[in-house]
Amino acid sequence: MERFSLAVVGAGAAGLMAACQAAKGLGPGRVALLEGGPKPGKKLLATGNGRCNLTNLHMAPGHYHGDAALAAPLLSSCPPERVLGEFAALGLLTRTDPEGRVYPRSLQAAAVLQALWGACEERGVVLLTGRPVERVSPQKGGFLLEAGGGLWAKKCLLACGGAASPRLGCGGGYALAEGLGHTVTPLRPGLAPMKCPKKHTAPLKGMRARARAVLRQGGRQLSAGSGEVIFGEGTLSGIVIFDLSLHLTGPGEVVLDLAEEMTKEELMDYLCQLQKERPTLPVRDIFSGLVNLRVGQQRAKALGLLGEGPLSSLTMADLGRAAQGLKEWRLPVEPGEGWDSAQITVGGVPLAEIRVETMESKRQKGLFLAGELLNVHGDCGGYNLHWAWATGLVAGRAASKGGEGC
Ligand SMILES: Cc1cc2nc3c(=O)[nH]c(=O)nc-3n(C[C@H](O)[C@H](O)[C@H](O)COP(=O)(O)OP(=O)(O)OC[C@H]3O[C@@H](n4cnc5c(N)ncnc54)[C@H](O)[C@@H]3O)c2cc1C
Repeated sequence: MERFSLAVVGAGAAGLMAACQAAKGLGPGRVALLEGGPKPGKKLLATGNGRCNLTNLHMAPGHYHGDAALAAPLLSSCPPERVLGEFAALGLLTRTDPEGRVYPRSLQAAAVLQALWGACEERGVVLLTGRPVERVSPQKGGFLLEAGGGLWAKKCLLACGGAASPRLGCGGGYALAEGLGHTVTPLRPGLAPMKCPKKHTAPLKGMRARARAVLRQGGRQLSAGSGEVIFGEGTLSGIVIFDLSLHLTGPGEVVLDLAEEMTKEELMDYLCQLQKERPTLPVRDIFSGLVNLRVGQQRAKALGLLGEGPLSSLTMADLGRAAQGLKEWRLPVEPGEGWDSAQITVGGVPLAEIRVETMESKRQKGLFLAGELLNVHGDCGGYNLHWAWATGLVAGRAASKGGEGC
């Protein structure tokens, strides 16, 4: 039977980081990295539209949800600068956009995978692909892993990811964690498009509009943010919608303000001035100087501001309705279709079951957990990969301590 000091299950972001860190301490041939899929890092290659938004310099606790309070000490001991330092040591340089989102300098996710897997190879990590781990049992001072044949390791690190985008990973991590005495909170898809009736969205399919978006459910405001909203046929998407989706558990509404930088009074002044300056402008183009043309025309139509008639025909009450309708566009929404279009999982193994200083399980000595498998999830913008790197780094280093011998 193959024997190792450490078996890392899952060659995604967290597992690659953990294996590369552990192998530095343990030496060549001692760390096995088991991947159920044919190659390591399949999801990593798809991140950030192939550009990999690997962390965010605007790190703040408010960007994390789930067991975020318990995660805070780990996140402050492992800030973006430390993660970027690790990548720089592997030769990967980065660039940062004005929102603090960090990408590889080449804007290629493949460069991130290359840096991590390259280091794993140099440090003698044994990669076993096409080996989905079906069971992990504590045995004889270590763990027996069933993965197309048995494999024994003194320590085991679960980095199996979540349930989102199943085509990009093989799954099964929650059952492994449960089999080792852990619990799993209810799971639901996160960072996903929301459903919104076709009558509102279909005429705008493919259109984008900048807006402040407020999410309400049961009469309560759950969350809010600003950004580009993308209209699909029966869906709303875009980064701001993805972030709001983390809080949506049932039917609710998104209220869009398409003129967030103006007060309602300022908007009213603008519309009155427009009416004065351009009295013959067709009513349907009332919003043409403010928002995406098609979005503006649809909005005018929905507000009953119809047709070819001139702007001069509108009363003050009409202009008031126009201003109100642009600043408060109420759209009924529901959680999206499911796991396929979700970027992350909301829920997972509670952090209360883990020692966050080392990411070792409190339930099973010698077992470590990292990444999306845990009940911590972040906003769009690099926060989820950051969680994977930070937990992988801490777990990999801790698992290599006193783990020599097999
Ligand atoms: C399309 C898309 C784009 C994204 N873009 C970004 C982004 O730009 N920035 C960002 O911060 N986040 C992004 N995310 C989220 C981010 O990719 C994940 O949060 C992150 O990859 C989680 O890392 P992980 O290592 O925990 O899991 P994963 O990266 O999913 O890796 C888990 C690995 O474990 C393997 N595995 C699972 N079970 C087993 C088993 N039983 N046996 C063996 N192997 C197993 C899987 O095949 C997989 O390779 C994106 C997600 C998607 C889907």
